[in-house]
Amino acid sequence: MNIKDIRAREILDSRGNPTIEVEMTLDNGIESVASVPSGASTGEREAIELRDNDLNRYLGKGVLKAVNNVNTTIKNALVGQKLDQVSVDKMLLKLDGTPNKSVLGANAMLAVSLASLKCLAKLQNKELYEYVTYGKVSLPIPMINIVNGGAHADNNLDIQEFMIVPIMKGMAKRIEAASEIFHTLKKILHQKGFLTTVGDEGGFAPNLNTTTEALDLIMDAINEANYHPGKDVLIGLDIAASVLYDKQTQTYKIDNKILSSKELMKYYINLVSNYPIISIEDPFEENDLDSLAELTNLIGNQIMVVGDDHFCTNSNLLQKGIDKKAGNAIIIKANQIGTVSEMTKTIMLAKKNNYKTIISHRSGETEDTFIADLAVGFGSPFIKTGSVSRGERIAKYNRLMKIEEELLKK
Ligand code: PGA
Ligand code: ZN
Repeated sequence: MNIKDIRAREILDSRGNPTIEVEMTLDNGIESVASVPSGASTGEREAIELRDNDLNRYLGKGVLKAVNNVNTTIKNALVGQKLDQVSVDKMLLKLDGTPNKSVLGANAMLAVSLASLKCLAKLQNKELYEYVTYGKVSLPIPMINIVNGGAHADNNLDIQEFMIVPIMKGMAKRIEAASEIFHTLKKILHQKGFLTTVGDEGGFAPNLNTTTEALDLIMDAINEANYHPGKDVLIGLDIAASVLYDKQTQTYKIDNKILSSKELMKYYINLVSNYPIISIEDPFEENDLDSLAELTNLIGNQIMVVGDDHFCTNSNLLQKGIDKKAGNAIIIKANQIGTVSEMTKTIMLAKKNNYKTIISHRSGETEDTFIADLAVGFGSPFIKTGSVSRGERIAKYNRLMKIEEELLKK
């Protein structure tokens, strides 16, 4: 089936910043819509998100150049062509011609790549998760960000994300637990006189000062909601350490202390021995694979040591990590790399080398739920898609519960 039309437009993401949406139509009338999220604590080696930098519009954040790239260059090359994921992605890479997608923009490219994937699923009359299946589908364990800090909130917490990880059986049960813990935490925060406003990913952003204060409140919320920390609910952290790193002094600022990477390593080991932590993401700045390898060697048999900015969903960067035995899990964000084919290659490489995959949202999201389908279809053991608040995060959880219902009927 051939591509008949491709149309792009500027829409808003969950932070109210512009992002891109693409509609694709095939000759037989099949249509799809895809939109692209946007990060705040982006890795240095992520593919380029093309923005206009025109200060007269959206404070420079407009994406009309990316929109125009789809509506002209990409459209001209793809309309009339047979729809096939590999061919579309190859063509996008050829048209861009740069290693970091700076000509067309990874936002423009991913929107088209995803719209193609969605049309292909519809062509086969399949749900997206069924279409992308490489083996057995399975429902992921959600990593639910209930306290926000770092670049995602205007509070004093240095760590970017404190997640609860409900591991009981069944997606609906996991989400039920998360919602109960979220609301219990809200009550506790309110009682203690903290604000209960939420950050970019829907978690609370109370003005706490230290990591352990946040962890203790989360433990209280889990217990008070009648769950058992360490048994049915675990804790995940995303340090996003590049944001805490001072290149000049090669130190990290965390909890009002200045720590070397060795001291930071001890700090993590101490946290893991005191709290039921299942994962630590980006524990060191993005270029320090050696420390990532050392931490993996020390506690990788107990927890997931996760690379996000370290790997940027890029198979070459992941391979460097594999070679050094750095990390044992990887965050997968389609817009870090820019095409479905390249993202799939990274997922396959991770699987082959026993790195756990965590399919992830961005802090600036849209209502597109494609990551829920990708997590199920690729049989990813985990998904990270924010808190149980804010519509753009909830859309993914609702989609996961719907998929669970469909799978149970089969
Ligand atoms: P970002 O944050 O989307 O702002 O990059 C998410 C993360 O670091 O995992
Ligand atoms: Zn991260």
